[in-house]
Amino acid sequence: MSFVSMNGGCIEVIVGSMFSGKSEELIRRMRRAEIARQRVQVFKPLIDKRYSEDHIVSHSDLRMKSETVEKADEILEKVDPRTEVVGIDEAQFFDATIVAVCNRLADMGKRVIVAGLDKDYLGKPFEPMPELLAIAEYITKSMAICVICGAPANYTQRLVQNEERVLVGASGVYEARCRRHFDPTLSVPGLSKR
Ligand code: ADP
Repeated sequence: MSFVSMNGGCIEVIVGSMFSGKSEELIRRMRRAEIARQRVQVFKPLIDKRYSEDHIVSHSDLRMKSETVEKADEILEKVDPRTEVVGIDEAQFFDATIVAVCNRLADMGKRVIVAGLDKDYLGKPFEPMPELLAIAEYITKSMAICVICGAPANYTQRLVQNEERVLVGASGVYEARCRRHFDPTLSVPGLSKR
């Protein structure tokens, strides 16, 4: 993969279900850039307090220092002009402004690597990820392993009954499922077949 453009700026998007390795992949790319002595900064939205407020943390416990922002615009305020690579995790929790922010950063010549869930607990597209996918130069779709049958898992099964779109949690609250074993009715009170 080459990352050559007029000013070096580009957008890479990493999407997939929970547990598919998006954060691991983001951390891997950021670490390689650091090893190559590039200046990097990682941001995440305030809403994701699952494991740490000043690190992004994968489900496999890889971690990397990050800065927390309440709104996407704050990334532009906090980004150092010398930063060459900007990482953004859990991008699905930002509003549509994140799209313009990523475009701006890429136009400034920065390599922008954005990771986020492409679908919510009902299997519906999780905005603003579809817009980010449309403007990205490079897209990586990652999959987990279905905990029921071992097939590639493209869906995040919510295991508790709750209709909030944003319900932060990890194992015990969510698990990876393939198309055959994903059942969105499980998480909707009154609709569950079980
Ligand atoms: P994401 O950011 O996509 O939620 P992470 O990078 O945080 O994913 O975590 C990926 C890790 O999750 C895997 O390396 C593995 O250790 C763990 N994991 C837990 N459940 C599964 C599963 N069903 N399939 C694959 N990996 C899983």
